[in-house]
Amino acid sequence: MLKVDPINPGKEVIDEAVEVLREGGLVAFPTETVYGLGADSLNKDAVKRIYGVKGRPPDNPLILHISDLSELEMVARDVPPSIYELASKVWPGPVTFVLRKSDSVLPEVTAGLPTVAVRCPAHPVALALIKGLGRPIAAPSANLSGRPSPTTADHVIKDLLGRIEMILDGGDTFFGVESTIINLTTDPPVLLRPGPVGVEDLEKLANLRILVPAFAKGLEEAGIALSPGMKYRHYSPQTTLILVEIGQCLTQTAYLKYVKSLINEYIEKNFKVAVICSRETCPDYEKTVTLEIGSRNNLYEVAKNLFKKLREIDELRVDVAISESFEERGVGLAIMNRLRKASSKIISCVPTPTPTSSPP
Ligand code: AMP
Ligand code: MG
Repeated sequence: MLKVDPINPGKEVIDEAVEVLREGGLVAFPTETVYGLGADSLNKDAVKRIYGVKGRPPDNPLILHISDLSELEMVARDVPPSIYELASKVWPGPVTFVLRKSDSVLPEVTAGLPTVAVRCPAHPVALALIKGLGRPIAAPSANLSGRPSPTTADHVIKDLLGRIEMILDGGDTFFGVESTIINLTTDPPVLLRPGPVGVEDLEKLANLRILVPAFAKGLEEAGIALSPGMKYRHYSPQTTLILVEIGQCLTQTAYLKYVKSLINEYIEKNFKVAVICSRETCPDYEKTVTLEIGSRNNLYEVAKNLFKKLREIDELRVDVAISESFEERGVGLAIMNRLRKASSKIISCVPTPTPTSSPP
């Protein structure tokens, strides 16, 4: 476990981590999205170990991380010029493209698929590692499969300590949710996973339409052919988590009233309840443990705290947790996708009738 300056990573630390990767070891490192669990992408045994230590299903492929757009041709082929143009606008950054894979990419990285997911991360530590190794790094999130992704080194320690060779502690990650993934091998391109960069923004940058299937919203399971990883349940705390969708509650007052009535039903049954709520609404809840996730007016703050709060639920030893919903625009789509996948039950808000006249 080594501390690393997230903005100006020291050469010594990076050299040591690169050495571990060269020898076929696994290194957890911070990226701007979540912590990654990295292996030398050309070392078959190291890549296979990633699946082992995470308990990751073998049909869920990894993302390849490059340090510069010029390295794209090492891993992908038949990349249209328009995609280079788009990549040059969003990289380095939290956007992953699925493209046709080049022959040099190991089948263990892509879980046997003819396509490969590629990203150039914007975190100085991640970039320094890839540059130091001189090859793409294969890295999924550095958590046990199914658990919330790690946004601090502490989360990585909880899940993987003793199973991997090195953890680089670069403090909190910047965005807190995993990259936006777009499949560019289909026409139109398809959003496979919403992330920090909103699909609306990508459409404008690329001047194209991107299909947003129901599974990308977390509303249904994806077929294996589309996106292998999306069919798995993710991010779930052990505690029962109920997500309350906005549904027909068009005002914040109606929504809050409904969530409160739901909480009361549990309290009456002597349940201990926790609620994931916004800075604006948390003060309104009584007799519950509140987990304040950020302001409704700053969805980046909500995204950054999301996985930390999901992990905290289990430490509270409550009987049930309830989460509020957030607006599905920009990074909000990523927040709602993760919350839907993390929850064991989804309830739609219906306005509760207010008594209009008092009895005689
Ligand atoms: P993680 O880095 O842990 O968030 O996992 C990587 C994600 O990228 C998983 O959800 C995979 O399903 C997805 N992914 C990786 N490679 C491909 C690919 N070739 N086609 C579609 N999805 C992919
Ligand atoms: Mg993951």
